Amino acid sequence: MSAGTPTDTQGTTGNGATAADPVFLAQREFHPFEAAGETFLYLVPSAAVFYLDEPSVAVLQALDTGATSEDDLVTALAPRFGEPAVRRSLAELVRVQAIGLTSAPKQTFPRVLPQADFPLTTMVLNVTNKCNLACTYCYEYGEDKIVDTTCDPAPNYMSEETARKSVDFMFEQSGDLPVAHLAFFGGETLLNFKVLEKTVAYARERAVELGKDVDFSLTTNGTLLRDKVIDWLAENRIGVTVSIDGPKEMQDKFRVFKNGMGSYDYALPKIKRLLERHRTRPIGARVTLTRQTLDVPRIFHHLRDEVGFWEVGFAPVTTADGRGYAIQDAGFDRMLGQFEELAQEFLEFAVDDRHHGFSNVKDTIEEIHKGVSKAFPCGAGLGLMGVATDGDVALCHRFAGSDDHSIGSVHTGLDRKRQFEFLGHHHVANKTDCNTCWARPLCAGGCYHEAHVRYGDTGVANLHYCDWIRSWTNTCLEVYGEIAVKNPGYLEQFES
Ligand code: SF4
Ligand code: SF4
Repeated sequence: MSAGTPTDTQGTTGNGATAADPVFLAQREFHPFEAAGETFLYLVPSAAVFYLDEPSVAVLQALDTGATSEDDLVTALAPRFGEPAVRRSLAELVRVQAIGLTSAPKQTFPRVLPQADFPLTTMVLNVTNKCNLACTYCYEYGEDKIVDTTCDPAPNYMSEETARKSVDFMFEQSGDLPVAHLAFFGGETLLNFKVLEKTVAYARERAVELGKDVDFSLTTNGTLLRDKVIDWLAENRIGVTVSIDGPKEMQDKFRVFKNGMGSYDYALPKIKRLLERHRTRPIGARVTLTRQTLDVPRIFHHLRDEVGFWEVGFAPVTTADGRGYAIQDAGFDRMLGQFEELAQEFLEFAVDDRHHGFSNVKDTIEEIHKGVSKAFPCGAGLGLMGVATDGDVALCHRFAGSDDHSIGSVHTGLDRKRQFEFLGHHHVANKTDCNTCWARPLCAGGCYHEAHVRYGDTGVANLHYCDWIRSWTNTCLEVYGEIAVKNPGYLEQFES
């Protein structure tokens, strides 16, 4: 801890007080949590994790009941810790803004927009809006779809030419970044395999000419995997995510063919073949959780231990309120309990330096370690864009093809004005409830697509799951704190 007093750090006289005025201190914005028998603070404005020693815990406890003068704090705590230690703690807590002078101006929450020329980091190409499955809950085809692809004039399959234009657009918009990320999405991506092959080859060629690198990823339902496709994925080091909902009875509940037949028996041998033959990148599974399939540990262990995925990530189904498969109230509590159970398992593995594979907790502790503080919930419309089959550029893949959410076209360029209007409107500072929420550095109001489906407005916060988000973030902070104390080396992987 650094030496000094709160008066040194903040300059009380500069705030209008005279040297004779008492200096009153109060708590600022933080979220306390316990891990490995220690107390930590998650400091909201800076998104930093701060370890509290005993005098600092005592200072914060003393301020629990309201603002107190610095002299009274020192008088009360010096007999236990000695005056120098109390003053050091006060100075440090002021420095990190866990406490502050009551006379200081109220902390404001800046609405800072990105610089005009910020680069595109990830482009998601919807190579087709067709799918050979008919998953009941699908946001593209189900009851909550944004674009009706049956009457949309856009082609069902992206042409080779539009895909090439998209690659050019991606490199143009990636500015000086050395690596561009190209993600293929659908519909079912492998229905347009020919265009995938050509696009990857073209992107590689252009990357060499430009002296850049390109990283590829693809999402598939697994039903169209065959050896030729798998070998191509492996040769091109394409990161694959398979959408799958778990063991047979869960997968077959909603992930069905158009005739209603479940897809598990058909997809599983192909997925196993993928896991056997594609060894150049780890393969992940992505699970959509519904009210009827809510058994996170069982799904996780089936997919990791019995099928062989490297990692498994879960997301509750995106749905308007009241759908039969929507997770609601008690379901969120159940899901939280299940996530917590797996997070404990993850922690035990991390302490032993072993890979676990529950990607929800890993992704969040990575963000905590990096001190991520989001002005926007995700990269949509910022560093990430989705391209529809006709080349229209949207906020992200889930909005691809929606005129209301278009921010340009790969054929005519990006509409920067529209993009900035969107960002200005969607900044977390505009979301009143989020402004006082300690989880905002990591949540920032949640997915725009979910807000659109649930409330009909991308700009509102997803207030239906705040309790869940805050509880889950607290769990991840506890896991982070435990790892930081018991095996700090594990966290080094997040420093690159
Ligand atoms: S949506 Fe809820 S949990 Fe997320 S930042 Fe806003 S208030 Fe907090
Ligand atoms: S808007 Fe939602 S679906 Fe789109 S990138 Fe953001 S979090 Fe993902």
